[in-house]
Amino acid sequence: MRKVTLSSRQLLFAPLPLRLARTNHDAIVKPAAPVHPIARLPEEWRDALAPRGERAFAAKQIFNWIHRHGVVDPAAMTNVSARLRAALAEEGLGSVAEIVHVHRSADGTRKLVVRLKDGATIETVLLPAVSGPGARQESEIDADAAAAEEDEDDDDAATEEAFRGKTRVTQCISTQVGCAMGCVFCASGVAGWKRHLGPEEIVAQILLGRALLDEDEALRNVVFMGMGEPLHNYDGTARALRLLTHPDGIALSTRRVTVSTSGLVPEIARLGRDFNGQIALAISLHAADDESRSALMPINKKYPIAELLAALKAYPMQRRRRITIEYTLVSGKNDDVAEANKLARLLRGMPVKINLIPMNPIEASTLGPPDMARVFAFQQALVGAGYSCFIRRQRGDDVSAACGQLVLLGAKPKVKGFGAKGADATQSPK
Ligand code: SAH
Ligand code: SF4
Repeated sequence: MRKVTLSSRQLLFAPLPLRLARTNHDAIVKPAAPVHPIARLPEEWRDALAPRGERAFAAKQIFNWIHRHGVVDPAAMTNVSARLRAALAEEGLGSVAEIVHVHRSADGTRKLVVRLKDGATIETVLLPAVSGPGARQESEIDADAAAAEEDEDDDDAATEEAFRGKTRVTQCISTQVGCAMGCVFCASGVAGWKRHLGPEEIVAQILLGRALLDEDEALRNVVFMGMGEPLHNYDGTARALRLLTHPDGIALSTRRVTVSTSGLVPEIARLGRDFNGQIALAISLHAADDESRSALMPINKKYPIAELLAALKAYPMQRRRRITIEYTLVSGKNDDVAEANKLARLLRGMPVKINLIPMNPIEASTLGPPDMARVFAFQQALVGAGYSCFIRRQRGDDVSAACGQLVLLGAKPKVKGFGAKGADATQSPK
């Protein structure tokens, strides 16, 4: 699409959606893209169908088919009139993504490689909760690998009933093809940004993943921790959040959805306002001072630690909830006990829990994880300072399914191609 740059005068007279688009990190003003039918909310279905003289009930039926039953082919919507089914097919309702590989690991983790309409591939991971004897044997290891993990007694009786006897599954989803943030330890960051996912592509990952669940499994948590920076794709992420939590659809509890961000300060505030603080936040901090953080995460130069922490303090947190602080331990960069002590001082008084993730090596970098003795020493310093601090176990290692370094794990960055550091983000993993 042609890039449009407007002068401030043009912007003043631009229609409102154009003016709002100015906050977008692309710094390009684009007209709002039309919403794909899969990404329509029930009220938008009503508005879309009314001029055709369709009953409001049809809107509810279609939304139900898509989001409750995962059916996106109008031909299979048996309680919808033939005339309307034909009209839906005509306007493009149908599949936007297909699974091309499912890698199942010995621990039950499943990595799904998903191909989109333009041929780009992304990944999404299903992580069943670890249960049974031995699951909590090592108390220092976070057995759930889910940043969304919260106290079970938060749930109402109906929710408890729905999950009785079921293995609770966390799904990790992607929001972009590649990522523009350039974090040096991350395969998506090294590859660079290719494009945002549309909300229909974000939701499609859940529809495809849910269809693969075993009978004794139920989708419980969704974490936006796959490829991409969810808040860089704010519009896509926000609409996907509305769809995932809509009571007539997938109906996830807002408390069970976690957005992980490298720290886009204005969008953290926007998310807080738009969802009234109901969406759980995970912050990729990875360092306790600006110098080390900027060396790992270029976004820190734009939004330094003090600004990020101020945004977290202003986030309209729900009672008894905590922000997850993610800290990827990179040998020789941020793994000294002195850093842990600095981190403890930095976060003092904030409602947080800390997840330590020993860096998963990536092909494009010589950086790697510290040895486990250093990881435990780092954790001890934080636990000693009174924090709840887990080491995130790497789940599904045999299928390279650790969240946050998905499809690009095996991709070799190229010199040419997309962006300055471009790699082919559509390349499938080895
Ligand atoms: N862009 C968002 C969400 C996706 S990344 C964010 O950065 O928060 C999800 C998590 O995986 C982040 O905490 C990220 O720092 C971490 N991660 C990325 N690459 C990793 C690697 N090679 N080893 C360990 N953690 C990694
Ligand atoms: Fe993007 Fe997150 Fe990777 Fe950083 S860690 S490059 S923000 S996906």
